[in-house]
Amino acid sequence: MVWWVLIGVAALAAALVKVFDRKVPGTLSKAVLLLWAVGPLVGTLWAIALLWQEWIGWRELALFVVLYFATGMGITLGFHRLLTHSSFETTPIVRGTVLALGCMAGQGRPIDWASNHLKHHAFADKEGDPHSPLEGLFHAHLGWFFSSEPADRERYGARLQADKLVSFMDRTTVVWLVLGLVIPYLVAGWTGFLWGGLVRMAFLNHATFAVNSICHAFGSRDFETKDESRNNWIVAALTFGEGWHNNHHAFPAMAYHGMSWRQFDPTAVTIRLLVWLRLARNVKLPRPELIARRKAGPAPTPATGD
Ligand SMILES: [Zn+2]
Ligand SMILES: [Zn+2]
Repeated sequence: MVWWVLIGVAALAAALVKVFDRKVPGTLSKAVLLLWAVGPLVGTLWAIALLWQEWIGWRELALFVVLYFATGMGITLGFHRLLTHSSFETTPIVRGTVLALGCMAGQGRPIDWASNHLKHHAFADKEGDPHSPLEGLFHAHLGWFFSSEPADRERYGARLQADKLVSFMDRTTVVWLVLGLVIPYLVAGWTGFLWGGLVRMAFLNHATFAVNSICHAFGSRDFETKDESRNNWIVAALTFGEGWHNNHHAFPAMAYHGMSWRQFDPTAVTIRLLVWLRLARNVKLPRPELIARRKAGPAPTPATGD
């Protein structure tokens, strides 16, 4: 085998010498050049694939991608835009499904999540904000879980606690969380558990935390809001559109955070799909005059949490 490869390489080298000397006909020289240009690239890809199979196979990769998307939608579409901000309405089945997916993400109970987030909107980058990077980027990213008082569920989550379905999902969070780890295990064993469970959870959680840290520190500000919120396309790409965070603070109840075709927002695409399937309605969007007025200057009244 090794000899054949060596003979092949020697033949190719000899052919290349001929090509460079322009002593072979046009078509053949092009074919040899093509082989020379593409061959090593194919070899490199092959080598990467061999290495890849040692650490992660296609089944694990598929589990990671599918569950990252599903549980990510659970957070962005379910916990955030549907539950916290009531940006649209949907059927009980869709509501239950996206909340279950959100619970699988491993970011806590839905009513706690929504309460903390409503408190963030109420005090964004001021005294009382659970996770402002003004207290340090690490605090905003992860530290606040350890040092901030959890938001008062009675105060911020009363509306949600009164909702039977939300209350049920909240009480059964651990069941869904465990299911999110058991499913990839059943599909692909321990490596499935690893990639579809733990690695997926780590990536999604840090992407979500980046909205609280990075998107209040780095990026552009299309609207003058009374906080430090930014639009950050890298975070938006990792969080299905949540990185258009300055837009979101300018219009908290707005269902579509991406406000132009250049601001890709996969969560908005999913909501549009639900509308098209007649599974979502009353999608909240600001009037164009209001957007134009806000672009021109700061808000006339303080931003509210809804
Ligand atoms: Zn924010
Ligand atoms: Zn929000």
